Amino acid sequence: MKRTAIDLWHDIVENGIQRVVRRITDEESMAMAEEYGTHNYSVMHVNVVRGDGARVWDGAGNEYIDCVGAYSAVAHGHLNPAVVKALEAQLQKIVLTSRAYYTSEVGLFLKGLAEYADLDMVCPMNTGAEAVETAIKLARKWAYTKKGIAKDKAEIIVCEDNFHGRTTTIVGFSSEPNYREGFGPFTPGFRMVPFGDAQALRKAITPNTAAFLCEPIQAEGGILIPPDGWMAEVRQICDDNNVLLIWDEIQTGFCRTGRKFAWQYEDAKPDIVAVGKPLGGGLLPVSAAVGRLEVMEVFKPGDHGSTFGGNPLAAVTALTALAEMEVNDYAGRSTVLGERLKKGLVALNHPKVVEVRGKGLLVGMEVADDVDSKALTKAFVKNGILTKETRSRTFRFAPPLVVEESLIDEIIERTSRALNADC
Ligand SMILES: *Cc1c(COP(=O)(O)O)cnc(C)c1O
Repeated sequence: MKRTAIDLWHDIVENGIQRVVRRITDEESMAMAEEYGTHNYSVMHVNVVRGDGARVWDGAGNEYIDCVGAYSAVAHGHLNPAVVKALEAQLQKIVLTSRAYYTSEVGLFLKGLAEYADLDMVCPMNTGAEAVETAIKLARKWAYTKKGIAKDKAEIIVCEDNFHGRTTTIVGFSSEPNYREGFGPFTPGFRMVPFGDAQALRKAITPNTAAFLCEPIQAEGGILIPPDGWMAEVRQICDDNNVLLIWDEIQTGFCRTGRKFAWQYEDAKPDIVAVGKPLGGGLLPVSAAVGRLEVMEVFKPGDHGSTFGGNPLAAVTALTALAEMEVNDYAGRSTVLGERLKKGLVALNHPKVVEVRGKGLLVGMEVADDVDSKALTKAFVKNGILTKETRSRTFRFAPPLVVEESLIDEIIERTSRALNADC
């Protein structure tokens, strides 16, 4: 029998939400999501009820190693004790003020993040897509007020196979038909060049080019790594043409690839960097556009904003997340554990695997064309690994950066079992 909503509200008020949630079985949970939620994700057949570090459990008590890690957002592990403690303490004080007022927490967050990124100023947002939208607005206003581009003529160059989020402007400059089809008309002012091709970028630049917006490694595109030297060359090309360099490090940033930021591999420091995902310590959406003073100062009161962007709860969560990464050498862990994982997956020498590639703990395992990837995903789940395919038949291994060395070996072991399953 269907519960009516009014019963549910009484149930929650009388018994507390946790007791209500505990009564829901895995099958009931999945059925509700299918019936009442839009079907905009293809979801693995697993219902997670609890997490701890790099592992999660379903309602039946089965354990899994989380190799999706909320698309790299859970770098600190599920329920990182230090970040949870910081958030809980803030819950006794003040959480939400909007930026109509100053708060000590947000002030410290803006300073801390600017210094962490080695840049001057921060515009705080919530989701990654908002950080990218913020960077686009900054670049355009910089182009009109500082570079002298004529009104509404500014162009931003992006890369094929990019992923920058899901707003209408952002999907408008995606090369993935699935992201675009049915959602036009799109925002003009974007041009596309192949990823990793410096010559193509140089050729695409015109006097109206405001910025080049790109990921240093294309994560959603299939863990695609550009040729050595490309990032440094991109920086040079932007300098030569008075074009802003905007790195989208929402997924690659904060030690995921073995450095604080992937641009550091080639000292290709951006004018603006978009950050998000792990900045929220695996607990909250916290994002930002961080940049050089000359660019960031173009924003005047009223130009941009977000009700929740830069709130005290997000600020203490992000500050603690940054401190944990620095003090516990997440970058070093990511490098060492990423190498161990890559070596182990390569050593499986499995005929279904075409290539293993990655940097730090952002690793992709590309499977052969004749592998049924849906069946392989199921085999992974059955063997206690949660991983999802990105584009180009590449399974993602991006476990939390706090993952234990023994669990890395367990990932390799379980992957071997999944690959050997009948699919
Ligand atoms: C996930 C991601 C985004 C979008 O972030 P949301 O928080 O989902 O809006 C943008 N850019 C990159 C590189 C990402 O990986």
